[in-house]
Amino acid sequence: KVMHNASDMKAKTKTKCGERVHIYANINLLSDLKPAREFKAEGVGLYRSEFPFIVRNDFPPEEEQYIIYKKLVEQMEGKPVTFRTLDIGGDKMLSYYSNVSEANPFLGMRAIRFSLQNRDIFCQQLRAFLRAGAGGGTRIMFPLISSVDDFVEARSIVYECMDELEEEGIPFSRDTQLGVMMELPSAVEVVDELAMEADFLSIGSNDLIQYMLAVDRTNEQVSKLYLAHHPAILRAINRIVSASETHGKDVSICGDLSADPRMLPFLLGVGLRRFSIDIVNALTVQRLVNSISLEEAEEMANAMLDFGRISEIEAYLIDCNLVDA
Ligand code: PEP
Ligand code: MG
Repeated sequence: KVMHNASDMKAKTKTKCGERVHIYANINLLSDLKPAREFKAEGVGLYRSEFPFIVRNDFPPEEEQYIIYKKLVEQMEGKPVTFRTLDIGGDKMLSYYSNVSEANPFLGMRAIRFSLQNRDIFCQQLRAFLRAGAGGGTRIMFPLISSVDDFVEARSIVYECMDELEEEGIPFSRDTQLGVMMELPSAVEVVDELAMEADFLSIGSNDLIQYMLAVDRTNEQVSKLYLAHHPAILRAINRIVSASETHGKDVSICGDLSADPRMLPFLLGVGLRRFSIDIVNALTVQRLVNSISLEEAEEMANAMLDFGRISEIEAYLIDCNLVDA
């Protein structure tokens, strides 16, 4: 039997009734790793790989990316690491890549669309991820997937990269899990098929809210309309978790919603057990999870899923003392 020391135990988050909940770190910069390790995060649930691209003045070559990704994997000491492929465009622009100007960049050439259009850049990154994951335990997920077809195309490119690496005799792991970020309403509508195809799903609530509600997440003028507790969002999250359970696939949430104390009971109540969060919020989330029983959480989630109006949900959250009146 494995013995755990006291500090190891601290990392094992549980609800009041003893259900295990997993807290992973969102990592933007390698410097985020230190606090993540100090908290004893159970792994990296989202590595935003645009940062090595943003700080440079040209697309970084495979070797340079590999060094960064490898460092990330090594520093997590065998804990799972989920790499997200490049998510540029929208709010994350590259100074050296001047795409034709777009009237609606959030609806334009961003994220997986960019990768599928620019295969060389995509393959360099995939090869670097695969090589960094040679020891096993790493996963790759694709942002802004809008259809099963997007996912299948991205996956086939990963397979091509794997075959290439094999031919070249370069080590990597065939078992690298491939996942879908659930960020678009179209993906929610085909979530059953996505859950069948993918190894795992991860809810990107920042974009999911933006695209479901048609509210620009960067536009102050409409920030009051950017509501995680809109009934459509709650039902979408519930559908995603249910589909994952039905198809026996791992599901997690990595948007800012995963660290929102008002919504945590709901997220636990619909069945989410894996939260990838900005590590500054980890202790707060952990303590809150410790204070909630699943029975309470499920009751609240069911009640919230029944409401058709934002105002009803707001009144309910006030009733439950989750928000101030
Ligand atoms: C999200 O959309 O919720 C997400 C985690 O990705 P990003 O915030 O980087 O778009
Ligand atoms: Mg996103």
